[in-house]
Amino acid sequence: MKLILLGAPGAGKGTLAKKLIDKYNIPQLSTGDMLRTAVKEGTEFGKKAKSFMDSGALVPDQLVIDIIAERLKQKDCKNGFILDGFPRTIAQADALGRIAKVNHVISLNVKDEVVVHRLSGRRTCKACGAIFHIENLKPKKSGKCDSCGGELFQRDDDKEETIRNRLNIFNAQTKPLIYYYSKKNLLVNLDAEQEPDKVFEECVEKLS
Ligand code: AMP
Repeated sequence: MKLILLGAPGAGKGTLAKKLIDKYNIPQLSTGDMLRTAVKEGTEFGKKAKSFMDSGALVPDQLVIDIIAERLKQKDCKNGFILDGFPRTIAQADALGRIAKVNHVISLNVKDEVVVHRLSGRRTCKACGAIFHIENLKPKKSGKCDSCGGELFQRDDDKEETIRNRLNIFNAQTKPLIYYYSKKNLLVNLDAEQEPDKVFEECVEKLS
């Protein structure tokens, strides 16, 4: 199963991906996570990406196309994969079309205001990346991760001004992919304002 998760930042792509990994036994390929790792490790590539990411802008197409092309060559992608956060532009989708044939593109539909509320309250564990929310998914101990005890922090790009910027970029550059993939008859629409378990159930039902 070769899947693309398409949706605004905060639509729940990462959360759905985690559930799909277990269901279909395929890896999640998140360009956002790959870029954050490169930034943390201070690689050349990470240095190039950092300023774009901090402002909420997209990093140049060729950078992410190269990482994904390399990643798709690895053994664990043989039986399928879940692309989370890629492609985000028509140029990236065209490039992907030349290297892989996807089965379904899952569009997680959610209103802008819901995204702002979700992301501005999102807290991430510094150690293991687990996600919490200051209202909807509170950690048991304030500021600490339930799974590993790591410190929770707010990503720079989860501040309200940056969120609005990321949404504008999504609407301008990534939303056109909905039409792009619907023309190819690959689109599966999901109501992503539901509880995560419901989104997952609807997704599995529509894929089967
Ligand atoms: P995410 O965690 O998917 O929201 O990604 C965080 C940031 O990484 C984005 O705001 C972009 O700056 C960058 N990024 C991730 N994926 C891509 C992509 N496919 N194309 C360009 N930039 C990306």
